[in-house]
Amino acid sequence: MTVSPRTQFVMGGALVNAGFRLQDPLHAYDFEKPNLTPLEVWTEFKEQNHLSAMVREKFPRSTEHPVVALLVCMDARIDTSELAGDTRRYYYVIRNAGSVMEDEEQEMLELAVRNGVKVLVLTRHTDCAAEKAAADPAKRAQYPVLTAAVDARAAHIEAFLKRPFIAERIAKGELLVEQLFIDTRSDELVAVEPPTETKSETAGAAPH
Ligand SMILES: [Zn+2]
Repeated sequence: MTVSPRTQFVMGGALVNAGFRLQDPLHAYDFEKPNLTPLEVWTEFKEQNHLSAMVREKFPRSTEHPVVALLVCMDARIDTSELAGDTRRYYYVIRNAGSVMEDEEQEMLELAVRNGVKVLVLTRHTDCAAEKAAADPAKRAQYPVLTAAVDARAAHIEAFLKRPFIAERIAKGELLVEQLFIDTRSDELVAVEPPTETKSETAGAAPH
């Protein structure tokens, strides 16, 4: 029986999802044991890394040339493999607090385009802790640099799009830049910010 590449791709995604579904409910298995010390968390983390690296060493993965670059907030609820629906590495991923576009991110994304990226996806997401901090006077006083970067994000994206190399690639039709929201509940990319469920405020996964 011959399996089409598309079928193989979708079946691979289904098997990855099966793995997620096996691990996802294991709340009390490792990191959420009561009274776990930082050292115990670190020991468990190292053990998990070792196990994972052993598998990777046994089954090396091919190296792809990225054609898409993603700018995504560090929020733990977002998974960029799910965002892409793909575990292959066709994606450069920049993650930071609030998907900010400081000079470092702008230069890194320009370098990614020089390295062959054809699509840039600049995202924000629902229920963003960094954006909430920027809207809270007390948190602004505590985190002045982060909140200033969140404030400047839109202006910095405009500046990025005007960088000569980027503007030229866009004008020639060699680069597409999309600005989208991630629905944090589903990892779906949407054009307009979807409503936030109030209960997700207590999810605990956001970096507060
Ligand atoms: Zn965020």
